[in-house]
Amino acid sequence: MSDEIAEIKRRISIRDLVAERVPLKKAGRDWKGLCPFHDDKNPSFNVNDQMGRYRCWSCGATGDIFNWVMETQKVEFAEALTLLAARAGVTLSKENKGPSRREAFESAMSEALVFFQRSLEAEPAAKIYCESRNITSEVIAAWQLGYGPGVGDALAHILKKAGHSLQECRDLFLVDQDQGGGFFGRFRDRLIFPIHDERGGLVAFGGRIIGAGIPKYINSSDTPLYSKSKVLYGMHKAKESISKSGTAVLVEGYLDVIACHRAGVTSAVATLGTSLAEDHVKLLSRWCQEVVILYDSDAAGQKAAEKASRLCQEAGLRVRIALMPPGDDPDTLLRTQGPLAVQRAIEQTQTPVEFILRSLQAKYPDRRDQAYWDEVVQALTLARNDLERERFLHEVAADYPGVRDVAAAKRALGRMVRQAMTGGDKALRSSSQTSVVPSGKRAYDMSGPERVLIRAMNSPTTKKVALDALGQAKLFYSSDAIAVIESLSATGTTQGPAELLDQLPQGRGREVLELLLWEEEEPLPLAAVEDALKRLQRLASERELKALGDRAATDDELLRQLSEKLRQQKGGNPED
Ligand code: ZN
Repeated sequence: MSDEIAEIKRRISIRDLVAERVPLKKAGRDWKGLCPFHDDKNPSFNVNDQMGRYRCWSCGATGDIFNWVMETQKVEFAEALTLLAARAGVTLSKENKGPSRREAFESAMSEALVFFQRSLEAEPAAKIYCESRNITSEVIAAWQLGYGPGVGDALAHILKKAGHSLQECRDLFLVDQDQGGGFFGRFRDRLIFPIHDERGGLVAFGGRIIGAGIPKYINSSDTPLYSKSKVLYGMHKAKESISKSGTAVLVEGYLDVIACHRAGVTSAVATLGTSLAEDHVKLLSRWCQEVVILYDSDAAGQKAAEKASRLCQEAGLRVRIALMPPGDDPDTLLRTQGPLAVQRAIEQTQTPVEFILRSLQAKYPDRRDQAYWDEVVQALTLARNDLERERFLHEVAADYPGVRDVAAAKRALGRMVRQAMTGGDKALRSSSQTSVVPSGKRAYDMSGPERVLIRAMNSPTTKKVALDALGQAKLFYSSDAIAVIESLSATGTTQGPAELLDQLPQGRGREVLELLLWEEEEPLPLAAVEDALKRLQRLASERELKALGDRAATDDELLRQLSEKLRQQKGGNPED
């Protein structure tokens, strides 16, 4: 595996990869551009092909081609490896078994998609249905909508003819088997919504009944390609906009997502036949810091919104809850009142605390009900900060039964809220900080001659002297120089800086070495390196003498060794 990684790194230039996203200009040995990881005013982002690395001197973002793909495409390492291997034309050994089956699955899915799309073209009833819902031909094309015919076995025939195993297609939730052993399509007389993962891979289908009938919606169950708790409908289209704005809009169904996108709210996504799960939230937090929840205003929708809001908050996401006019959803709103009404609904939001308080106030018209106050206290623990908590404490305290002194009621409620908060309340495990980018240019603790020798190993004329010196650990004394020597001793002799950095174990030594390698300087002449080595040798023997002297104060034998050493040194260095 590591051979394959090394080969991929040899074949792909970090500069080519970065340049696809960030315009780069040559600057000395490096290439420079605006950092894509922070709001960069001056080009502080450097790319170096010899090292195979990028580094932002302002926000500290740094890494190789794998980090680049992981960061910019928000994927895990395994995914980055697959992507880069494909680009480099390197076949991954452990993948040899898996993908052929996956490819067969993917090809069956595309086959089915084409079938559904053609069926929609051919079925007047389906087209009439689309017209009645204001689903235009542009929408059909953009969202690749299709139709699953009422007669059952056409899809099975096509899949079989194309050489697909119908058993496997059954695993993909495309067909099912009747008692006679015959296969029939799963989605019959339904408008089909293809479901893509965040990278745009077709992984499942959902179907809405055309006309009357139950169930209204059928969604793929989990299949080898699809896990419903990990996929959000529309994510592949919404991710750019979500990433740019830092906010995702969460709605309830396919048509809501489509309606939002049509209304210009291109950051809308939905869960599919399931409530928001932790994995969904993880997916969202990779792309944004804030979620606007736009669910139906009925009781079920409100309850779902409250639950989704808690999950998002626990993951450290900011939450706003949008208010839908009663009886409407984004789809009906778009059809009856147009795109502005949808945009307005998304702008009129409440914080989770306010949202819960308002629904409690509606639920408990009688403020003497103790249950109301218990729930209010719980709700206030969800406040974003002290300011918000204070504001609502103040508001509700005035309602406290028989209150004379609002300030006293407020203090009492405040105590209850603090108690609930320190009582290990679940909501408070929240606010896990998003991973902190390492801070910018870090100085290192190292003397001049130590630095010269470490740098010298990267130049052919001085490499030998440097490596000899680096082999003598006692010559080095600054903490960061020692860290570098130690991490170097964990590896063999090295070729170039990129391979060297790859071989070193993670840690301070590697970090310091990378900082040194980024410093652009002319290679030092051999004489300067030898000079630095002499200085280090002298310093080392002085340290040794001093150590002996310290101990000699209590030891006659050491005193004898010390005077011997001093005599030798005098003789050996007459110029001193
Ligand atoms: Zn940066």
